Amino acid sequence: MQIITTIKEMQAFSKKLKSEGKSIGFVPTMGALHEGHFSLVNSSINENDVTVVSIFVNPAQFGPNEDFNKYPKDHKGDMEKISSLNIGAVFLPEVVEIYPKGFSTFLYVGGIGGILCGVSRRDHFNGVATVVTKLFNIVMPDRAYFGQKDYQQTVVIKKLVRELGFGIDIVVCPIVREEDGLAMSSRNTYLSDEERKAALILHKALEYGKMLMLSGREENTTSIKLKMETLIKSDPLAAIEYIEIVGTEYLEKIDEVTTPSVICLAVKIGSTRLIDNIVVK
Ligand code: AMP
Repeated sequence: MQIITTIKEMQAFSKKLKSEGKSIGFVPTMGALHEGHFSLVNSSINENDVTVVSIFVNPAQFGPNEDFNKYPKDHKGDMEKISSLNIGAVFLPEVVEIYPKGFSTFLYVGGIGGILCGVSRRDHFNGVATVVTKLFNIVMPDRAYFGQKDYQQTVVIKKLVRELGFGIDIVVCPIVREEDGLAMSSRNTYLSDEERKAALILHKALEYGKMLMLSGREENTTSIKLKMETLIKSDPLAAIEYIEIVGTEYLEKIDEVTTPSVICLAVKIGSTRLIDNIVVK
């Protein structure tokens, strides 16, 4: 496994593979790797000749009052975990390599970036689209792997790839959960023991919402969202940012109970903002 830190070397690595007719699978991450990341990596390993994983905490997708500076970093642990897998290269650039002095070319994803998580994280998806575009140009993959955990992100990336004509297959992998249902996330390390228990309310509420959607007893999504809200509010550590029921492809709000749809939510547990979702079909 090669550890590559510069754009030039990464492009040379990928160009060589391409000249040999090899397919490249790409898994972009922000590090502090867990089983959720590894499920993406394993899918890529199974479906491509060579897999490239990037580890880059992208400042452009964090707002001024967010956790960029304290985002969990575990380079040593990441390298140990990753070195046992059949990965061709890890791309590990410094911030100045991706955003050199004077960098000013940013993508704007439009309205899709202003709903759900985009309401509180105004430029988040523009920052994601910018770095993913740059990483695609550097790694030149045939396929790129993203987790359903960040549902809105997968919709934004698929749209980006379609609209800018990247010619990269976007593969969305299912959410990996802890045994008790909590969706794995690098941010779970922020939770105290008490908060960790409280965080289970996200998955419980999603399962409850899904059950109501499929029960045949509910006609509109407003009453389902209210019932989910009541459940979440029963936990004093939980503060709801949003609960929405939207279409799976375009994330448009759904009023009447219809499937397929996806229930998305963001909830703060103490000071930690967690997101989760469940597809109903
Ligand atoms: P991150 O490092 O949090 O930016 O995540 C990198 C990629 O891993 C993204 O495509 C995430 O959606 C995906 N991912 C993170 N957590 C999970 C999970 N629990 N299950 C599946 N994919 C995940």
